[in-house]
Amino acid sequence: MSGVTVVLGSQWGDEGKGKLVDILSADFDVCARCAGGNNAGHTIVHTNPEGIKTTYAFHLLPSGLINPQCTGLIGSGVVIHLPSFFAELDALKAQGLDCGHRVFISDRAQLVFDFHQIVDGLKEIELGGSSIGTTKKGIGPAYSGKASRSGLRIHHLFDHDTFAEKFRKLVEGRFKRYGHFEYDTEGEIQRYKALADRLKPHVIDSVVYIHNAVSSGKRVLVEGANALMLDIDYGTYPFVTSSSTTIGGVCTGLGIPPKLIKNTIGVVKAYTTRVGGGPFPSEQLNDVGVHLQEVGREYGTTTGRRRRCGWLDLVVLKYSCLINGYDCLNLTKLDVLDQLAEIKVAVKYLIDGKEVPGFPADLELLSKVEVQYATLPGWQSSIEKVTRYEDLPENCRMYVEFIEDYLKLPVEWIGVGPGRESMLCKNTNVN
Ligand code: GDP
Repeated sequence: MSGVTVVLGSQWGDEGKGKLVDILSADFDVCARCAGGNNAGHTIVHTNPEGIKTTYAFHLLPSGLINPQCTGLIGSGVVIHLPSFFAELDALKAQGLDCGHRVFISDRAQLVFDFHQIVDGLKEIELGGSSIGTTKKGIGPAYSGKASRSGLRIHHLFDHDTFAEKFRKLVEGRFKRYGHFEYDTEGEIQRYKALADRLKPHVIDSVVYIHNAVSSGKRVLVEGANALMLDIDYGTYPFVTSSSTTIGGVCTGLGIPPKLIKNTIGVVKAYTTRVGGGPFPSEQLNDVGVHLQEVGREYGTTTGRRRRCGWLDLVVLKYSCLINGYDCLNLTKLDVLDQLAEIKVAVKYLIDGKEVPGFPADLELLSKVEVQYATLPGWQSSIEKVTRYEDLPENCRMYVEFIEDYLKLPVEWIGVGPGRESMLCKNTNVN
């Protein structure tokens, strides 16, 4: 299929989007990031044609770069910390993935500076007990600067004197707001002069680039960062990220109209996880939660933090489907449920015995919901080696079909193990 295919996280992130992107990117010419920064993290276990496995950690770069035919595009909606961008390129090169010559960045993308990262930490301290649990990568402060129209963009780097002047003003503003903190402003300005030279070959007008790519029949894959429930408007605000993680963010972040999007795939973990603070109605603070954490290896790529775990929440997913309009789903980490005797799925939220329509905006209200679960029988056998949907245990298929029935959406891919090869295709028709 020509046009644009989008892969989006449908829950609170870490659904395993990277693996699907890695598999799909073999058939795509361009893999793009549209929002977020290096706060996102994909871990991909890639097996090369000789059968050697390598684990790559992607933070800012599109993970489709593993495919040597694929060009990586970082769109205007992304915020970029240049030292981290180069560190990521260098780390991939050290692992044998030399992809710098096929990575392009929008000249409209915003810059994240070290002072944004310092401010991120100071903000969390200010918030005290109600801290949002950000990754302290400066992403939030950089988006704040963008919204208040004081941010610096990639193109600003190439007029050094004006850049230096604007940069000094920005830092002064932060000192006024947060008090003086240790920061070598002039040293930073010099460092960015060198970084700008190194960056130059990567910088493009991404609007021209992506529209040329699509109109010349190239296949474009967009890799969503973060996930729907972390969206600045529709997530569990304020426990969210600072960008638009929805399908809307794909259009604004890349400068493309909705009609170019031909296929939207929602990635759904077979249970629920979230990092940091904020509401999580189906959280299991018990043996089930610990089991999911251990078996699912639920530790963050970027932060190493343990993720909170709970049952799959179909109320969340229905809401996610409404906003993103997925065409189909990729259910991931189904194998993590292998050993459980029974599996619960959240199907309704009740307040005072009455079903709540949709997903509550008000966190006070959300904290009062009583979650109603459906209980399904487990399959208690390993599915990791299963390669065809029909060969999954009956109870396992029942679980998948329960989700499909509830959401009225097909599950096209099913993750049955960490490796790239552990992905079942139910009925794929993407390309
Ligand atoms: P992302 O940011 O959405 O790509 O998710 P993460 O990087 O946090 O999660 C990816 C991790 O989950 C990697 O270690 C993968 O190997 C692992 N993973 C992905 N799919 C599956 C699966 O179906 N089963 C299991 N057990 N692990 C998986």
